[in-house]
Amino acid sequence: MEFEPVIGLEVHAQLKTESKIFCGCSTRFGAAPNTQVCPVCLGMPGVLPVLNKKVVAYALRMALATDCEIVRQNRFARKNYFYPDLPKGYQISQYELPIALHGHVNITLADGSTKRIGLTRIHMEEDAGKLIHDPDRPVSRVDLNRTGTPLLEIVSEPDIRSPEEAGAYLRQVRAILRYLDISDGNMEEGSFRCDANISVRPKGSDQLGTRTELKNLNSFKHVESALAYEIKRQAEVLAGGGEVAQETRLWDSAKNRTTSMRGKEEAHDYRYFPDPDLVPLVIDEAWIEEVRAGLPELPDKRKARFIESYALPEYDAKVLTSSRELADYFEDCAKQVKNPKMAANWVMGDLLGLLNAEGKEIDASPVSAAQLAELLRLMEDRLISGRIAKTVFEEMVKSGKPAGRIVEEKGLVQVTDESAITDAVDRVLADNPGEVEKYRAGKTKLFGFFVGQVMKETKGKANPQIVNRLLKERL
Ligand code: ADP
Ligand code: MG
Ligand code: ZN
Repeated sequence: MEFEPVIGLEVHAQLKTESKIFCGCSTRFGAAPNTQVCPVCLGMPGVLPVLNKKVVAYALRMALATDCEIVRQNRFARKNYFYPDLPKGYQISQYELPIALHGHVNITLADGSTKRIGLTRIHMEEDAGKLIHDPDRPVSRVDLNRTGTPLLEIVSEPDIRSPEEAGAYLRQVRAILRYLDISDGNMEEGSFRCDANISVRPKGSDQLGTRTELKNLNSFKHVESALAYEIKRQAEVLAGGGEVAQETRLWDSAKNRTTSMRGKEEAHDYRYFPDPDLVPLVIDEAWIEEVRAGLPELPDKRKARFIESYALPEYDAKVLTSSRELADYFEDCAKQVKNPKMAANWVMGDLLGLLNAEGKEIDASPVSAAQLAELLRLMEDRLISGRIAKTVFEEMVKSGKPAGRIVEEKGLVQVTDESAITDAVDRVLADNPGEVEKYRAGKTKLFGFFVGQVMKETKGKANPQIVNRLLKERL
């Protein structure tokens, strides 16, 4: 029997507010343990939470960016469970009235087509603290600095059908959060976390199978590997006549497998009830319109505009709009040159190649958009060849000097003087009589060899069009 995977993802994104969701403590990362706490986030008896307005504004941004309906009167609920890093004994979250419902996110599939993934809901909640387990002694430490940091939980419909789609969905959600400037979306640092729900069912069935929930997924690669493993495992269980147990499983990235962590809780286990300390949150039309008016251009729109106004292929536009910073960089560069496609090639090829190799993000690029544009203009003005441009680029990265200065200092200006190039061509032909004979006898593949020799003679500075023309004439 053939099985089809069904996947729904829950994303927890930390919001970039300066203070926590229900108190004035700082959310700054990296402070000494338990120095950013107060009676409210420590869960002392008798304290009262006060909602941070910016958290709501950020939630509205995400809700509008994903075409959700805003629940005009929503409210907070207590989700009761005990953890050492959750000192109140309950988490303030939202339950039956979340701030937003029924949105969607578009993803691009490998074949270039677009698929719409439904969003069930988006809600606001507080984060728990952190347990730090001592590797040497049976001791765990509790750091409550993170307790009360605002989170958005974004829950997808079970619309995802493969690990690759799950990866594309997560990247798109993260890109939207970053475009909106409301979350860092950093998976490794835990500001963007994902639980993956997965079941399999016989192909063609419209019933949902029993799901497992995968946790401990702290990179896109882990999400995809864990899902692939789990699809295979569940299909084997079903094919063998067994039943999949509804449970929470952990991804073990060292052993490349999932293992059972605990039986899955049901919602009623949490004894949700409306938090009596917080009044219902009423959102008026004026606020929604104000937030809507402040939304930036989002990835889908920007991609369409790049295709339209810079005549870029779909693929280039997708890569270049994958983050707001990269899109800004490209656009800044493209506006300063004649040929935007050439700018796209350089940004995606040379520049991203370099940044990836050094594990850097675009904002840490050693070459600014204006500096790259200067290099591209030297090429467009035929002052340097494409080959020399690569050398100049390397030098720009190393020395931080502008392209023009490197070209000048190293005497790299392209030779367009025909007589100088003619001399080099003649020398090459005279030095290689054997190759000339073979070429004339029909081995035309040798043309590239001659071009290479002339370039060597001229130290890469000869204008390639002139070299080609002169060689053709002579041969
Ligand atoms: P919980 O909060 O208990 O995990 P939810 O009802 O909020 O439960 O569902 C969480 C996620 O599980 C959603 O993304 C949903 O799409 C997904 N999901 C629900 N049922 C299935 C299923 N049978 N197979 C795969 N995913 C599922
Ligand atoms: Mg869940
Ligand atoms: Zn506090």
